[in-house]
Amino acid sequence: MPDQWKPATVAIHSGHIKEAFGALVTPLYQSATFVFDNAQQGGARFAGDEQGYIYTRLGNPTTAELERKMALLEGAESAAACASGMAAVSAALMTHLEAGDHLISSNAVYGCTFALLSSQLKRYGVDTTFVDFSDPLAIEAAIQPNTKLVFCESPVNPHLQVFDLTAIAAIAKRNNLISIVDNTFMTPLLQQPLTLGIDMVIHSATKYLNGHGDVIAGIVCGSEAHIHQLKYQILKDFGGVISPHDAWLILRGLKTLDVRLSRHCDNAEKLAVYLNQHTKVSSVFYPGLENHQGFKYVGKQMRRAGGVIAFELIGSEQDAINFVNKLKLFTIAVSLGDAESLIQHPASMTHSPYTPEARAEAGITDNLLRISVGLENVEDLIIDIEQAL
Ligand code: PLP
Repeated sequence: MPDQWKPATVAIHSGHIKEAFGALVTPLYQSATFVFDNAQQGGARFAGDEQGYIYTRLGNPTTAELERKMALLEGAESAAACASGMAAVSAALMTHLEAGDHLISSNAVYGCTFALLSSQLKRYGVDTTFVDFSDPLAIEAAIQPNTKLVFCESPVNPHLQVFDLTAIAAIAKRNNLISIVDNTFMTPLLQQPLTLGIDMVIHSATKYLNGHGDVIAGIVCGSEAHIHQLKYQILKDFGGVISPHDAWLILRGLKTLDVRLSRHCDNAEKLAVYLNQHTKVSSVFYPGLENHQGFKYVGKQMRRAGGVIAFELIGSEQDAINFVNKLKLFTIAVSLGDAESLIQHPASMTHSPYTPEARAEAGITDNLLRISVGLENVEDLIIDIEQAL
């Protein structure tokens, strides 16, 4: 791949395998297993003495193309595709942690990530301290002798808080910790945490990478050594691998990622400005707005502010729910990064695994709403919100 290729070109052309019949589009290798010429060859592949596919849980040509492309896009040595974003989060964590270990996480993360860290990992003897990552001193203060890892999203789901990833990577390096960032809201086209010194990047590929609302998948990117361990220990034995069909759909989605993201960002910027001036809206959380805590990172750490907006209406939680129910064009659904504009109520939906106290600590209020701005004409979206308000 020529060094000067820009991400939009990489997303379309890189990592393509030369295929026997010259197909333009990567074939879907929908096969659970791969045939050996003889028993010796099977043994040699298992022993690692001969290159070649064995069984799709251990590797598949369609999946491998997605992994090559994502590694190139993130600036990583390697990548592993997983069955879901949560499979990617759990596999990345399990690669580095064992019973008795401790990790530090930002206090606001996706609801199921919070449940994984605060409940499931606890069952296996791993403890998490949640702190406000906008304060690097708070991260350092939470480090214990058994701390192995720091984890955050940036921007954060649901209220788009942005963290200084260069500072977080430096803290991790200084203290011999692994740093992991969930880059789902940005994609590698808007932010590349590995280039800032972060060790591993996670995506829910369900979102922008696929972009069409018809796949559940995840990706982890990192060093050759980390991804090798993740693939051949964690994914091999815990089994959370992607289906080749889903990998094929994401490869198709990636071809339009750059143009889709431009539209998502254009629409979100306009919608955020509209919401910000509305008398019935008390706060808008969008890093593209000058009054947002993350604004100083836009154009630097992150190329643009992305396609997700959170906001609070003046009034009660019930007023927020009533507003959602009055919308006609917005679809009431969780997830993000699809063509359709989606709206949801984090406190009762995506972030319901939080206790009310942990939600308050993380700044997720009861009347907060989250929009994933879609690809529609933004004037139609504004008309819909105006009538519902
Ligand atoms: N990370 C973030 C930031 C998310 O928003 C989500 C899902 O919404 C996930 C991870 C989990 O991804 P999945 O639903 O693909 O398992």
